[in-house]
Amino acid sequence: DRMQQLIQQAMSEISKKTCISFVKMNLSHDHVVNIMQGKGCYSTVGRQPSSPFEKTKFQDLSLAEPGCDQLTTVLHELIHAIGFGHEHARWDRDNYIYIDYDKVKPSMRANFAKSTRPVFAGWERFPYDYKSIMHYGGSAFSVDGSPTMIPLLLGAQLGNSKGMTE
Ligand SMILES: [Zn+2]
Repeated sequence: DRMQQLIQQAMSEISKKTCISFVKMNLSHDHVVNIMQGKGCYSTVGRQPSSPFEKTKFQDLSLAEPGCDQLTTVLHELIHAIGFGHEHARWDRDNYIYIDYDKVKPSMRANFAKSTRPVFAGWERFPYDYKSIMHYGGSAFSVDGSPTMIPLLLGAQLGNSKGMTE
């Protein structure tokens, strides 16, 4: 069906642009991403710890229809599963965007929490990527549709609806 095509398309785009490849589950795998239809579009970030009581750890990646049936949405969730968080939650994001908390729905403020500073070497080589598909659009979680995130770089576009950036 359409969703399966989108998933195939997203996996092949990730494989073309990165060193990641996707394989079908087999009995030797002890960690498996379970793509299913839950309530909305979501995924855990990175490989989830398993308990000593489970032979295989299945972690959910939900792509509900309708709503999640867009290529960038499928890419976004798969990239979460690989281990990437949101670009606008980067520890250094305040140098690049201004969050207007007065415009954010109070119950949604936690979505703008920052992640911790990366510990891996070479993170400086990853400049802030305004157009990343891991970046929400400028009026995400807005009380009235007005911007909640304002780029400090004049005219920068936040997120995109086409595909992965470099
Ligand atoms: Zn996300």
